[in-house]
Amino acid sequence: MVKETGYYDLLGVKPCATMEEIKRAYRRLALRYHPDKNPSEGDRFKQISQAYEVLSDPQKRSLYDRGGERAMKEGGVGGRGGFGPPMDIFDLFFGGGSRMHGPRMERRGKTAVHQLSVTLEDLYNGATRKLSLQKNVICRSCGGRGGREGLDTRCPKCHGSGVEVIVHQLGPNVVHHIQTVCSQCQGQGEWLRPLDRCLACNGRKVTREKKVLSVHLDKGMADRQKITFHQEGDQGPGLEPGDIVIVLDQKEHPVFQRRGNDLVIQKEIELVDALCGCKTVVQTLDNRRLLVSSRPGAIIKPGDVKCIPSEGMPVYRSPSQKGKLIIQFQVKFPEPGWLPTHQLRQFQAFFPHREEVMATEDTEEVELREYFPHLEHGRRFAGEVYREDDFEDPMRHNVQCQTS
Ligand SMILES: [Zn+2]
Ligand SMILES: [Zn+2]
Repeated sequence: MVKETGYYDLLGVKPCATMEEIKRAYRRLALRYHPDKNPSEGDRFKQISQAYEVLSDPQKRSLYDRGGERAMKEGGVGGRGGFGPPMDIFDLFFGGGSRMHGPRMERRGKTAVHQLSVTLEDLYNGATRKLSLQKNVICRSCGGRGGREGLDTRCPKCHGSGVEVIVHQLGPNVVHHIQTVCSQCQGQGEWLRPLDRCLACNGRKVTREKKVLSVHLDKGMADRQKITFHQEGDQGPGLEPGDIVIVLDQKEHPVFQRRGNDLVIQKEIELVDALCGCKTVVQTLDNRRLLVSSRPGAIIKPGDVKCIPSEGMPVYRSPSQKGKLIIQFQVKFPEPGWLPTHQLRQFQAFFPHREEVMATEDTEEVELREYFPHLEHGRRFAGEVYREDDFEDPMRHNVQCQTS
């Protein structure tokens, strides 16, 4: 039993969740509430990140399970106020390498990842989509200094290192040093008195600005494909601007399913078409109408798969080539009674001759009935219970016979 479930609730997982489930839940929520996408949900993002930092570390998680949030604070975890997101959104998507995160180690701004919902038509025809987003730009008012020129911006608490050392006296001769992010400057190494801060950016050196990106979708691009805009991401003083990565998210299409460069559709045809050759119309993703026909006399069986070459998806970067259009056929049989009984014999005449099976002395006549598997299952189960109650043990029966 865990003491509290607050962190689990924040991530929307059960206290027994596996590491994989926790990671997945965090990824999903972080994407939804990331300040780049949702600037008004910054606090929510911070809470989610805090929950994740604890639950993703087996040691911290077990401490939390035993003692709740209070134990975390006493243990020096999570009580520092503003510890940043434990991993940036880039790592969430790409599994993350070992990007340096400590104070003053970043040389590049963060990579921001955005999802862009696209249709299969967009990927077939190509399209340009506008995406509006927010990013950090160097404050124009202070030029990214955060305050007046010439001010000493070094943090007085950590002397610019960004790191603070907390000493715990555990026993008379045992001293425990814990290195942690400086609580005054949050690891930045720089700090300004409120009065000295630039009014435009409040000392943050950057301001949030709206940016509209034109995303060009090339013919044949894939679901989950990434498009990178180099250096269009967050700016920061002394940093190379980060990248913006757009991840395409293709909406499901009601008719076409994509399989690599091929498109797959389902077609239901009448029995007469299946037997005599069929003609059917397929509306393409660029709104052409294909009249698809089979040779007269060709038979299409239920479940048959046929294809039309070069009517699939355009090949990425070589769009004059296309994959196949694959058609999976279902055959619609006529309803019972579609032909008056007296005409059945006439109809039969069209089919190859068949041997008629006659009732003889050694055959018993039975009739086909409808079969409902789900009902049968229940009946058999009830039967078993009944038989069990009434069951006679053959061994016991034998013994009784022998003694009597
Ligand atoms: Zn400023
Ligand atoms: Zn500091």
